[in-house]
Amino acid sequence: MEATRQLFWNTNGKGLMYFLALISFVIFIFGCSKKIRNWLQGRPIGYDDLGLRFITFFSDIIKHDKEIFFGTFRRFMHLVVFYGLIMLTIGTSVIAIQDHFGIPLFYGMNYLILSLLMDLFGLMTMIGIGMATYKRYIYKLDHEDYTLDDALLLILVFLILITGFILEGLRIYATNDPWAWWSPVGLAFSELIRISGLSVLSALTGYAILWYFHMLLALGFIAYIPYSKLFHMFASALNIFLKPSSPFRGLTLVNNISKEGKNLGVARLEDFTQKQLLELDACISCGRCQKGCPANISGSPLSPRVVIRNLKRYSIQMNSFFKNKDKADNHSIIDNVIAKETLWSCTTCGLCEDKCPIQIEHIKRIVDMRRSLITESWGYQPEVQKVFQNISQSGNPWGLRLDVKYLAEVSQVPLLNEKKQTDILYWVGCFGSYESRNMKVSQVMFKLLEKAGVDYAILGREEKCCGDSVRRLGNERLFQQLALENVYNLNQYKFKTIVTHCPHCYNTLKNDYPQFGGHYRVLHHSEYILELIKSGVLELKVANNLRVNYHDPCYLGRYNSIYNAPRDVLSSIPGLELVEMKNNRAKALCCGAGGGRIWMEDIKEHTTNSILVINAQKNEADILASACSLCLTTLSDAVKTMDSELICQDIAEIVYNAL
Ligand code: SF4
Ligand code: SF4
Repeated sequence: MEATRQLFWNTNGKGLMYFLALISFVIFIFGCSKKIRNWLQGRPIGYDDLGLRFITFFSDIIKHDKEIFFGTFRRFMHLVVFYGLIMLTIGTSVIAIQDHFGIPLFYGMNYLILSLLMDLFGLMTMIGIGMATYKRYIYKLDHEDYTLDDALLLILVFLILITGFILEGLRIYATNDPWAWWSPVGLAFSELIRISGLSVLSALTGYAILWYFHMLLALGFIAYIPYSKLFHMFASALNIFLKPSSPFRGLTLVNNISKEGKNLGVARLEDFTQKQLLELDACISCGRCQKGCPANISGSPLSPRVVIRNLKRYSIQMNSFFKNKDKADNHSIIDNVIAKETLWSCTTCGLCEDKCPIQIEHIKRIVDMRRSLITESWGYQPEVQKVFQNISQSGNPWGLRLDVKYLAEVSQVPLLNEKKQTDILYWVGCFGSYESRNMKVSQVMFKLLEKAGVDYAILGREEKCCGDSVRRLGNERLFQQLALENVYNLNQYKFKTIVTHCPHCYNTLKNDYPQFGGHYRVLHHSEYILELIKSGVLELKVANNLRVNYHDPCYLGRYNSIYNAPRDVLSSIPGLELVEMKNNRAKALCCGAGGGRIWMEDIKEHTTNSILVINAQKNEADILASACSLCLTTLSDAVKTMDSELICQDIAEIVYNAL
């Protein structure tokens, strides 16, 4: 006799099942299409490299890439549930195909192997559900926040699986199934039923009743998917597939910026891109983005997770059958859904994006909403408006006139408009040119370049603010003016490499200016100083018992993956002991100054710079080192306020002192 089992054994509910399955699928399709319609309300954007995207996507999903699923426990839990549900769907589909189309798929070895796989994968899914329950409700992580929907999903999947195993156990027990060993979990249940002393007649009755319950649960589950968090299995996967191919957190270029009355940002739901609307459904509300967010740590109203959650709720409200049409048409997101203070709080540090398993782009969303504040004149703080005015009139945030002599106190700094060409163009940056603490760093850089005999020059008064803060604050119009002017000036001259000591200038010149025709070889001073040390032109003396704690600047590390160069520079100094922050490299805590926050008066209320100082003190460091103008400013402020004995220095200063 060929191995198989009778489909719809001991039940006459087949007709009802097909009818309810139809209803369930209609509800499922309706829910999915509603979501897709909501996404399509946004602005379309193009996606490059579709082939490469497919390859990366499938390898990420199949392997459950560890970049996406942080931690072995979480990865294993997701793996078993994911593959378990896929296997159970395949098995159920095979049964449906045989029953509906009469194709004999569920016979012989096929039947035995499929029975075994469905049992084992069902068991794996149960283990995964147990792990998820443990993680969510016993080993609760402080940043994770679960709703009734999460609990309901776990209960539903558990009930479907357990009733499925009990049904299998009852069938094996009542039929004395000769192939029961190929369904080991069902066999175990049948043994339990046997031990319980249940009669065969009761088993048959129990089976007939439980079958309806199992069927209703399974079909209800399918219908519920688009209305529950489980819909993330489609939305998150699509979002990961559509993730930006550029390696940095680049902002969207606004074309035709000079067009009068053009809306440059996002003020209403439909101003978002289709992907940004998809992200609202892709978010699994895990809260990892919130943990470590400098704004959130400092007690400001920003939580990246809550931004997504509130926008999602608003989108559901606006797309519901009962929406108020006038309200939907006229209502703006800003202050109605997301407060301006929330938008201002973001330092664009990128930690949230680095931690998000779904690769949701928070920074673009926040900057896009900030951009609408400029267009609609809804309000920048007076101090930010003053910075815009100064930059627009004088090319720097303080509205100062550059004193090249002061900058070059110790030497005659060559100007590029006199030399016309040079090997190294040192981009001094606004802080390096006008802010007293950072001017010391530029002076040290001049000395290092001269000591190394480098052919270099600066732009002097031709160097305008690179526009990093301006762009991240949302003033795209002013940013584009600055970018075009700087690119025009740079393109007049011949130089091989731009070196800058500020990672914000570095990132703008390297990653933003190509959008405006500026394609340059840009090096951060940590990379260039390392080249000089390695080539032997800078010889370093022993720095006895110097303990240095290096802090990773966000725009150098997370944005541009430069983690080793500054460490290698410091480690080249004999006798220097390099110590690390508790959270370093990609996990480094932001000092609180990026994204234009440095220009807002309430930055003093922020605490992350103090946390960094405390961490360095715990490490018993002599020097808190950084490689960023903004970090140096905020960390020096914190050291002063806290009356700490720590010395804050740029890595160039530490190198110079070791010559
Ligand atoms: S945005 Fe990403 S990290 Fe934040 S809650 Fe959503 S899925 Fe989690
Ligand atoms: S970029 Fe930084 S400050 Fe902004 S939301 Fe993300 S973690 Fe918070």
